[in-house]
Amino acid sequence: MRIVLMGPPGAGKGTQAPRLAEKINASHVSTGDMLRAEVAARTRLGLMAKKFMDAGDLVPDQVMIDMIAARMANDDDNAHPSIILDGFPRTVSQAEALDDALQATGGAIDAAIMLDVERGELVRRLAGRATCANCKTPYHLTFSPPSKDGACDNCGGELVRRPDDQPEAVRNRLRVYDEQTAPVLEYYRAKNKLTVIDGAGAPDDVFKLLLSSVRS
Ligand code: AMP
Repeated sequence: MRIVLMGPPGAGKGTQAPRLAEKINASHVSTGDMLRAEVAARTRLGLMAKKFMDAGDLVPDQVMIDMIAARMANDDDNAHPSIILDGFPRTVSQAEALDDALQATGGAIDAAIMLDVERGELVRRLAGRATCANCKTPYHLTFSPPSKDGACDNCGGELVRRPDDQPEAVRNRLRVYDEQTAPVLEYYRAKNKLTVIDGAGAPDDVFKLLLSSVRS
């Protein structure tokens, strides 16, 4: 199965995608995580991408299409019969390039699932979001804080805030989502591949909805 997990920033993709991947034995491919790893390693790609990311803008399509093509070519299909794409495609051009690449190998996207969350809730979530720098466990400093300030409950790692969770970047990311990524929903809807699920609930409740959508 090849699943695209969609939704605006703060909808919960980064929380749900790894859980779903573990449950259905899929590989989890997050272009945001891949880019952040490039930034941390100070590669040329990372240094170029950082400017776009910090401002909440999209990294150019061709860079992303090349990145995902290389990643999917390296995927060990036997270890992971399924794949969950988290954060890709984010433009119609990316969606078309993905379909072309899969078609060339006789494959296709099976489903696009959108986590739907209203705007005010997205802003509240992003305003308090923090992640363990070590094991990537997500926290919300108000709704699901760690038991010890600034430290991960899971591994003791340092909790960090993303630069693009600053208010100005958040406003831009939501604008970019409306203008460039929302049309991708229509792209999959027209192919009868889109399912919209309610992403407003607690993580466990959203996960149940997600799982039943994947299994239906
Ligand atoms: P995310 O972790 O998915 O929110 O991604 C963080 C940032 O990485 C985005 O705001 C973009 O700047 C960049 N990014 C991630 N995926 C893509 C993509 N498919 N196309 C363009 N930029 C991306």
